[in-house]
Amino acid sequence: MSEESRPQAERIAAARPAYRADIAAGLDRFFEPRRTTCPWCGAAELTTRLRTTDLLQHKPGRFVLDRCGGCGHIFQNPRLSAEGLEFYYRDFYDGLGEKKLGDTFGGRTGMYRGRAGSMLPHDPAPKTWLDVGTGHGHFCAVAREVLPATTFDGLDFTDGVELAAREGRVERGYRGAFPELAPGLAGRYDVVSMFHYLEHSTDPDRELRAAHETVRPGGHLLIEVPDPESRWARLLGRWWLPWLQPQHLHFVPVANLRERLTRLGFTVVAEQHAEPHDPVDLLAAVWLALDHAAPRDDAPWLPERPGTLRRTLRAALLLAGIPALIASTLLDRFAIRPLSHRLRVSNAYRIVARRE
Ligand SMILES: [Zn+2]
Repeated sequence: MSEESRPQAERIAAARPAYRADIAAGLDRFFEPRRTTCPWCGAAELTTRLRTTDLLQHKPGRFVLDRCGGCGHIFQNPRLSAEGLEFYYRDFYDGLGEKKLGDTFGGRTGMYRGRAGSMLPHDPAPKTWLDVGTGHGHFCAVAREVLPATTFDGLDFTDGVELAAREGRVERGYRGAFPELAPGLAGRYDVVSMFHYLEHSTDPDRELRAAHETVRPGGHLLIEVPDPESRWARLLGRWWLPWLQPQHLHFVPVANLRERLTRLGFTVVAEQHAEPHDPVDLLAAVWLALDHAAPRDDAPWLPERPGTLRRTLRAALLLAGIPALIASTLLDRFAIRPLSHRLRVSNAYRIVARRE
């Protein structure tokens, strides 16, 4: 075993007893009672849209997404409880998962520049910007290069935002729930952004009202979320990365979001589909399927560390999958991306709305 992998193996072993106790206590407490009405519009016409498992961390549990026949809203049902959220987020963005994801998110400069640049036609020089769900603040660090005169603050419910403030990626870091912090930040921001945040929220409507409170009159709200109407969602089924169960609780069709923002007192000034598309759908689907088929990598929620044979088999299977991973990357980037809007496969949409 190399020196580099030793601490990780020890950290996994140290986390194992707590996970074992959590799993032994039963998974039912990780879920709220199942809803019979749509959380977006209240209609009672629900159908099952997807049944799946945790394909990223492979923690135990089964998850269901329902679709509302009244408005098209898709949501996790039953939804994770507070205990469930804690269990399934643990060691994903922080703890054991922090380094891995830091590397992933750290390398996305071009995408972050695009997000910051999408504000330029509407306000070329905002003074204050609050990034809600900022994580470790990587977007803000890159956005400052595009908008050097703007002060970026970050908000997140994890301690990642404190790290972001210490590292100077955000001017101020607010830790907590946005709806609870919003009254203290009322009318303070020229721009409030929510990049891939709303789908994680237990109550998106409450988040939108908090956003309305914190954006000054005449200021802008910038939202980017997965697009549940993407063709990939149907074609790839449970292997479509943006379903991201069990973290993504709500999938809002773009017409619903426009309507709700208008009702709250915003004017939608831009709707983009091609620009926020992240060309990883096929690659991610091939990876998720390979990873699912292969023997498990070690993780603290497994009863014990996989033996040498299983680890060798896993390595061999992933190696055999490399040609498929390369082919899918090339298709994503060079064949499908230029046509993403025309093929209706764009996996996200972006809305810019001005507060009146
Ligand atoms: Zn509905």
